[in-house]
Amino acid sequence: MRCPKCGSRDDKVIDSRQSRDGSSIRRRRECLKCKYRFTTYEEVERSDLRVVKRDRTHEPFDRRKLAASIAKAFEKRSTSLLTLEDMVSEIVHHLETSGREVPSSEIGAKVLEKLRRIDEVAYLRYASVHQRFQDVDQFVDAIHTLGRRIKTNALQRELFSPETMQEKSVPAPARSRDNAAKNHGLL
Ligand SMILES: [Zn+2]
Repeated sequence: MRCPKCGSRDDKVIDSRQSRDGSSIRRRRECLKCKYRFTTYEEVERSDLRVVKRDRTHEPFDRRKLAASIAKAFEKRSTSLLTLEDMVSEIVHHLETSGREVPSSEIGAKVLEKLRRIDEVAYLRYASVHQRFQDVDQFVDAIHTLGRRIKTNALQRELFSPETMQEKSVPAPARSRDNAAKNHGLL
């Protein structure tokens, strides 16, 4: 494998790890020339899996795109990289075994189902970006879906920090959003 840093083709594998469901293998490699360490993945090629988007156009399924969107939801969270990798592998395995075409909404639903069990903040982040809440009621519904496990302080800090609010375009006016959150004990 060509070193991403110096371009040398000589490397050694220093660690090999199979995902929990056995559908992919992750290898940690070290470049013999410059000692740079990088990771490669090996998995069965399924080039025929296609995603049907909201506007009904199709595109080839892209594992890296899925992994990146999940990683984004976990930004600055303490969840380990290996947990994320397992999660991506499980979702990909599910998609590959359920047909050749998969609606993007089904991918989103599957991701949310997993996130809900792992990290509620990541769940809400992902939902707010990918489900595009139409109004505050949908947002509150998403919170309710989490049930009582929610950690109020963590959620408040993450979701209502000025930094986060700028990034996300929550369409509801700030006032009603805050009120709704207040009513549900979030603020
Ligand atoms: Zn190198």
